[in-house]
Amino acid sequence: NLSDRITASFKQVRGKGRLSEADIDATVSEIRRALLEADVALPVVRQFTANVRQQAKEAVASQALNPGQQLIKIVNDELVEILGGAARDLHLAKNPPTVIMLAGLQGAGKTTLAGKLGRWLREQGHTPLLVASDLQRPNAVNQLQIVGERAGVPVWAPEPGNGVGDPVQVARTGLAHAQDKQYSAVVVDTAGRLGVDTEMMQQAIDIRDAVDPHEILFVLDAMIGQDAVHTAEAFRDGVGFTGVVLSKLDGDARGGAALSVATVTGQPVLFASTGEKVTDFERFHADRMASRILDMGDVLTLIEQAERAFDADEAEELAGKLAGDGDFTLQDFLAQLQQLRKMGSMKKMLGMLPGMGQMREQLESFDEREVDRVEAIVRSMTPAERTNPKILNGSRRQRIARGSGTTVTEINALMDRFDKAKTMMRQMARNGGPGGMGGVPG
Ligand code: GDP
Ligand code: MG
Repeated sequence: NLSDRITASFKQVRGKGRLSEADIDATVSEIRRALLEADVALPVVRQFTANVRQQAKEAVASQALNPGQQLIKIVNDELVEILGGAARDLHLAKNPPTVIMLAGLQGAGKTTLAGKLGRWLREQGHTPLLVASDLQRPNAVNQLQIVGERAGVPVWAPEPGNGVGDPVQVARTGLAHAQDKQYSAVVVDTAGRLGVDTEMMQQAIDIRDAVDPHEILFVLDAMIGQDAVHTAEAFRDGVGFTGVVLSKLDGDARGGAALSVATVTGQPVLFASTGEKVTDFERFHADRMASRILDMGDVLTLIEQAERAFDADEAEELAGKLAGDGDFTLQDFLAQLQQLRKMGSMKKMLGMLPGMGQMREQLESFDEREVDRVEAIVRSMTPAERTNPKILNGSRRQRIARGSGTTVTEINALMDRFDKAKTMMRQMARNGGPGGMGGVPG
């Protein structure tokens, strides 16, 4: 795993007061190997390691205060750079509707993305229309309709009169309909094949020429590895695109494709797709992706999603608790579990916390139903017991077990887990907390 490898290569330099050229070379070549193993394209790796090496040597020459940390910062900044730097906004039409066309191989996640994008656009105050210009697979139109329904966004599907069997005609009539009914955004779903194919590319080009999109988003499955670069190049040289969406970033592949595609194609990654649900979607932030790769945890995304799910006060309090402010009580533990569950997949959210790279096993064994049991147990405690669990003697535990419909064994297990969580919180706080990002400046 890329992140583990890079983190390991930092171990040797993290605490060092002085770095030798040999230290730098050893770290850089270790990172180089890790990037190559993670399917990052060779030219990208070369550029990356050359830049890091040069800057690191300059840092040593200038006798920076803490060269070990400086090196980590250099690697981080350079990762942000190859990921495409700061995110830009979508290009919007001066005269709506804004037309967004999706392109990419079959299974890349285009149709799923159409729903996510539709929902997101609606959140941004747009009135989007989804257009079903994939007539390749028998179920493609139906799939988009289901996705549209989940997103609460209408779908323009082929009907007699607007282009049955002709995806270009469906796109054209869909756009005309959007203009007529004053939709402010149109998302055109298109067909893909398993591999790059001239007929498919020509169809995409014909759709493009019929609707003259403001954005063409190339959807790339982040898990496809080595093929990512070739596929991206083929789409760049074929239909062309103005931005990239990385899908399936929830999978294990932590970025080989992601790390290459912006640099190789010169187009920025605009969005990340992180699951099958219509809400598993976010703006892509190169700096956050870089820290995720460096296993510093994606605290900013966590907090942003928290803010979306609840009011800001609650989120801030959670952030404070995670950063180790104040006492972490059972009540907080429960609130945190409930909030995490509200935010979507528990495992995914926990995976974004710093230091979780080493805790994957624990994550894998996490059971969401556990939250219900924890809730029942904590609800059966008195306020005093919640803030000061030390007073939980045998008879109190028996009373709580009866009240919550659980057993004393379960309560003991919960207290065990709570103690571990508490220790983890303290450790995180000691390591500088999530905000301190494990000692990395910036
Ligand atoms: P298309 O052929 O490009 O339209 O791809 P689809 O949108 O039909 O997606 C193909 C499969 O990947 C479907 O089973 C989706 O549910 C799944 N999928 C799409 N995006 C994601 C994602 O971000 N994460 C995960 N885990 N699955 C995804
Ligand atoms: Mg599709």
